[in-house]
Amino acid sequence: MVTLETIIALCKRCGFVYPSAEIYGGLNGVYDYGPLGAALKNNIRKFWKKSLVTTDKTIVFFEGSLLGPESVWQASGHVSNFHDPMVDCLECKKRFRADEIDLEKSCPACGKKNWTAQRQFNLMFKTAVGALEDASSVAYLRPETAQAIFINFKNILSSNRVKIPFGVAQIGKAFRNEITPKQFLFRTREFEQMELEWFCKPENAAPDFEYWLNQRKNFYQAIGLTEANLRFRAHEQTELAHYSASCTDVEYNFPFGWKELEGIANRGNFDLTQHSTHAKKDLSVFDDETKQSYLPHVVECSVGADRLMLALLCDAYSEENIDGEKRVVLKINPAIAPITAALLPLSKQLNEPIHKIFKELQHKGYAVQFDETGSIGKRYRRQDEIGTPLCFTYDFDSTTDNTVTVRDRDTMQQERIAISHIETVIKKKLGF
Ligand code: ATP
Repeated sequence: MVTLETIIALCKRCGFVYPSAEIYGGLNGVYDYGPLGAALKNNIRKFWKKSLVTTDKTIVFFEGSLLGPESVWQASGHVSNFHDPMVDCLECKKRFRADEIDLEKSCPACGKKNWTAQRQFNLMFKTAVGALEDASSVAYLRPETAQAIFINFKNILSSNRVKIPFGVAQIGKAFRNEITPKQFLFRTREFEQMELEWFCKPENAAPDFEYWLNQRKNFYQAIGLTEANLRFRAHEQTELAHYSASCTDVEYNFPFGWKELEGIANRGNFDLTQHSTHAKKDLSVFDDETKQSYLPHVVECSVGADRLMLALLCDAYSEENIDGEKRVVLKINPAIAPITAALLPLSKQLNEPIHKIFKELQHKGYAVQFDETGSIGKRYRRQDEIGTPLCFTYDFDSTTDNTVTVRDRDTMQQERIAISHIETVIKKKLGF
């Protein structure tokens, strides 16, 4: 299995992910996405959105604010409960999550045993809104995207002609002041969530939970994660939050072990109840059949876009030995590959005609790259490493016979095709 260090190095080398503010020494647990990372993440978002709209369910999309007043987070329980236990080593001053180490043993960093008492650390980033800092100006950067959906539930319902059951989906940043951010994109302080909140009648929550669980299984299969590296772990009764009827974690076999990728939960009517009570607003809906009002129940599917990207990179990475030379290849699903096709002139003298083809494809919206530097073998390797499924090479024969060589990333097989067929070959690769 690939090591995390290999993935981190690839990400830096190829422009997927950089440590944030690197020239100033970096900011721990925060990353910037380079051109390829931004493209890959965008394709992941699109893939997730498509997986929702291609169901037969009603889904609307939403974008909530990142800042929220304290009242929201008091109602959601985050102010009083969103804590992790923290402990410091008095010798080397390193800080740890107390639930992640054995306090009976000595410090894993310095080998001495001199712990502080455990303290609870709230993971939310607190700030003040406006020029006056008093109790009324307290706000938090959201630690999850979901609450904005719950507090807008009535707005969405009354302004969009949607009826229960329906889903509200959102992709956006969340912030957690993790005590020990680690494992690269796995646990960061600023990250992105892709969340679906599905509102349904109480009696449908259990079957709808099963429905979405199944949909999410299909999603992971379609996006191309290896089945053996995925498992769906239902929570034991003792693990469940008090309001939750059922919860299943989608776990991925990362280089550092099986870890959560997504949480799928039947949350009952906990969130709407909390906000109804705290905001003193009626968030119930009227059932035309029973002529009674009720608070809808919620099934939530919440996946981290960055964690998913890390899983996809680990899953796709492979090394092959080709005639004694190492070939690094990202065997990523062509539909989410940051670059779909590279257009390569065999010699710089041939740039003009193939650059024209490149521009035409770019104008049509394809993710294509033009590369004229280095030997053709080197250029193929460069594209392999970033997961480009197709390379089209224009050579001296192309000028007279109007054909190019198409090379497949995975099989490395080459075929001669008419220039007029380039777009068709790309579409086929993308599954259109
Ligand atoms: P964990 O137990 O790993 O901290 P969690 O159970 O607190 O995760 P949720 O609150 O259920 O996570 O958030 C939903 C998803 O958001 C997670 O499954 C994960 O993919 C992503 N996520 C949560 N925290 C982080 C983080 N610090 N960095 C990157 N992604 C995160």
